[in-house]
Amino acid sequence: QAHIDRIAAVDGAIHAFLHVDAEGALATAADVDARRAKGEKLHALAGVPIAVKDIVATIGLPTTCGSKILDGWIPPYDATITQRIKAAGLPILGKTNMDEFAMGSSTEHSAYGPTFNPWDTTRSPGGSGGGSAAAVAAFEAPLAIGTDTGGSIRQPGALTGTVGVKPTYGGVSRYGLVALASSLDQAGPVTRSVLDAALLHELIGGHDPCDSTSIDEAVPAVVAAARKADVKGLKVGIITELGGDGFQPGVRARFDEAVALLTGAGAEVVEVSLPSLEHALAAYYLVMPSEASSNLARFDAMRYGVRVPPEGSDDPSAEQVMASSRDAGFGDEVKRRIILGTYALSSGYYDAYYGSAQKVRTLIASDFAAAFAKVDVLVSPTSPTTAFELGAKLDDPLSMYLQDVATIPANLVGIPGLSLPIGLADEDSLPVGLQFLAPQKADDRLYNAGAALER
Ligand code: GLN
Repeated sequence: QAHIDRIAAVDGAIHAFLHVDAEGALATAADVDARRAKGEKLHALAGVPIAVKDIVATIGLPTTCGSKILDGWIPPYDATITQRIKAAGLPILGKTNMDEFAMGSSTEHSAYGPTFNPWDTTRSPGGSGGGSAAAVAAFEAPLAIGTDTGGSIRQPGALTGTVGVKPTYGGVSRYGLVALASSLDQAGPVTRSVLDAALLHELIGGHDPCDSTSIDEAVPAVVAAARKADVKGLKVGIITELGGDGFQPGVRARFDEAVALLTGAGAEVVEVSLPSLEHALAAYYLVMPSEASSNLARFDAMRYGVRVPPEGSDDPSAEQVMASSRDAGFGDEVKRRIILGTYALSSGYYDAYYGSAQKVRTLIASDFAAAFAKVDVLVSPTSPTTAFELGAKLDDPLSMYLQDVATIPANLVGIPGLSLPIGLADEDSLPVGLQFLAPQKADDRLYNAGAALER
């Protein structure tokens, strides 16, 4: 009830939520209370409210992906993570705002209007998961679910002073997440502490036969690692290519202090170069739109969503209905990426664009493998800047894309990443985030290092 009251009081100014389900959340809370009163042994997070990004399927609750094309769509099934959240008794407060189909770094591409950063409402909370991050930062929800295809959990985490984790690819089921780029997408926790993130990660993670890319192994021991919080002897590598030019001075200053804290706590800090990272952003913006253009083909106005008949035609063909519905239902950024992706996949261009991008991806993976032969975890600032003014990057896609220069590499190679707040930048008093990266399936290392730094 306290969180529902808080949402009612502040969400008019924040707009973290697209739909609030007060009734459903209170019913779950009452059920948990009753089970607890009977002495039932419940999950550690039972009764703790959670906000869920609007790209995760939830029975009976709209799931719009921030798009007009899914306006009013109510899924007939729950995503695996929704099922696990419900089974553990976490009341779902509602669905959070996002850039349309998770394309963006500011939440301004939502068809339902932007989310405002609780630290300064003239600024963006980052994106695409700005709604989840802002809900946690504004104390509307103690926990949230995000999805991260190129940084959409970690970058909003950095810009709102929250903790955000992208698990190892395959570590958390994608069943019931609306697919953006299937080889990059991962869902993960958004919280106020590293231990909270570990508890939520452990709950939603683990094998799922409904996702063919799900890892058939136990979740790494993330909760134990968050409790350990000891970096003595841990080898930490600062990524040479991330943190120099283009990174705001206040971000670099807080980052350098955090590294000094790690050294003080007994970590062995060295610098490691990953030369192919220079090409990561370019490779991502071919792979991601290619996969997205293919995944978004399902929005054909026949199977789901909004159908807009073409004007001036009494007997339109199916193709005309698809064209007019997609024209009306998709926003500019989504159209830009569909065009880019379709082009990159076209015969004659496939090898030059999509094929080359996949080769760059392999090079980046070998750079990471070489780096992790020398160090246990890598670190960089999460985002080059603190929260930027709403509108500042809206007309300049390239500068928006550059927000993800530090987060995108992890998605391209399937490794886990955790962002946590490390203080406020001197020039604007806004939160700065630091990102740890670890090898695939070593998510526990992130929680150990993150919790140690948090202390
Ligand atoms: N900002 C990146 C993009 O626009 C990442 C999106 C995401 O992680 N969903 O593609």
